[in-house]
Amino acid sequence: MIAEIISVGTELLLGQIVDTNAAFLARTLSPLGISTYFRTTVGDNPDRLRGAIDLALSRSDVIITIGGLGPTSDDLTKETIAAAFGDPMQMDDGHRQWLEGFFRGRVGSLPQSNLKQALIPVSGQGLPNPNGTALGACFEKDGKIAICLPGPPNEFIPMVETSVVPILSEHTSGEPMTIHSRVLRIIGVGESSLEDRMKDLMQGDSPSVAPYAKTGEVHLRITARAESRVRCDAIIAPMELEIRTRLGNAVYGVNDETLEHIIITILRERGQKVATAESCSGGLISKRLTDVPGASHAFVLGVVAYANEAKVKQLGVSEEILRAHGAVSPETAKAMAVGIRQASGADFGLSVTGIAGPDGGTPEKPVGTVHIGLAWNGGVISQHNQYIGNRAIVTQRAAHSALALLRAYLIDPSDPIFDVK
Ligand code: AMP
Ligand code: MG
Repeated sequence: MIAEIISVGTELLLGQIVDTNAAFLARTLSPLGISTYFRTTVGDNPDRLRGAIDLALSRSDVIITIGGLGPTSDDLTKETIAAAFGDPMQMDDGHRQWLEGFFRGRVGSLPQSNLKQALIPVSGQGLPNPNGTALGACFEKDGKIAICLPGPPNEFIPMVETSVVPILSEHTSGEPMTIHSRVLRIIGVGESSLEDRMKDLMQGDSPSVAPYAKTGEVHLRITARAESRVRCDAIIAPMELEIRTRLGNAVYGVNDETLEHIIITILRERGQKVATAESCSGGLISKRLTDVPGASHAFVLGVVAYANEAKVKQLGVSEEILRAHGAVSPETAKAMAVGIRQASGADFGLSVTGIAGPDGGTPEKPVGTVHIGLAWNGGVISQHNQYIGNRAIVTQRAAHSALALLRAYLIDPSDPIFDVK
């Protein structure tokens, strides 16, 4: 089966947004055994859209359009496909009623322009959209299929998983198939070294295992294709176990679990608390920690001590240390961590000091030099990191490494890196 993806939107042609949806869709189609031979991008123009659809129908079995299902007059995808398939549209009364209720609660009444979002093909089917107002649509004629999906990724991606995969699996294998993934989040192992250690596991098809490099960490996506979600889970579980056996504590979370989420959860369970003293990360660590619901049970105080005087006054860092070692040094990082721990009464003091750039670097302390401090009851350590990247990247990585260090202590305080003797 040959597929063609048509992304609709003038903003895509202007380069104002990147077509992440088409990339996601293409990755989803290949494990189904569907070959994507063409990807087309066309603006919000009915004639050119019609031309793209007719061309796609002449060379592909299935067309999937992205975008153009909004309420405005330049959102024309469904109407144009309906014309190409000769399949008129009708109102889905159930969805219209739902829209009326939705808008009544917000703007008083259903805007006329939104009515068309409840239109579905007479001989095809509407596709549910749990996260938006526009129904998707599936048209079928003479062995050709066209599926129309909305553009916003939070609507598009779930619809690919719940509608597109089952519909197309049925056409390719005769039985409905679903694809399900589980993401393992890994810290402290680079992408290439991870690939070396996992190479033999990455050859498979279902489950497939693929690495994705993120800022400061790597994700491994395990994907299974089977007739049900339960069956997919059963295929994924032994692979996850094998990866966890190989990587141990380097796997810190799954799917959407963030480092800060894990940290707050552990601290809450133990009735412990953390406080932060940040210099170059500018409050990013405390921001990330307080983004977690329930953080108030585990986060006490965050200080952004940027100037040396602030480090002295707010955190009790001695002028002696600053003079002898400088603000960006292991000694200062440790003193900041100890200072914030004392000032707050928290169980843990976490600190960051570094040079985010673009200025301020020296041969001994180049831009990207970051020292992290962690103080606990009975000890304090510092960790030196050297990052490559612009100011934003250095800041993000510094915050990420600091959270990773705290998480590492919480998971295993007997790790030699925490040996203060
Ligand atoms: P539309 O459904 O065409 O009204 O698109 C609504 C919004 O979805 C756009 O403003 C974009 O923010 C987003 N969007 C549309 N198409 C894509 C795409 N192919 N990839 C990523 N985002 C998209
Ligand atoms: Mg659009």
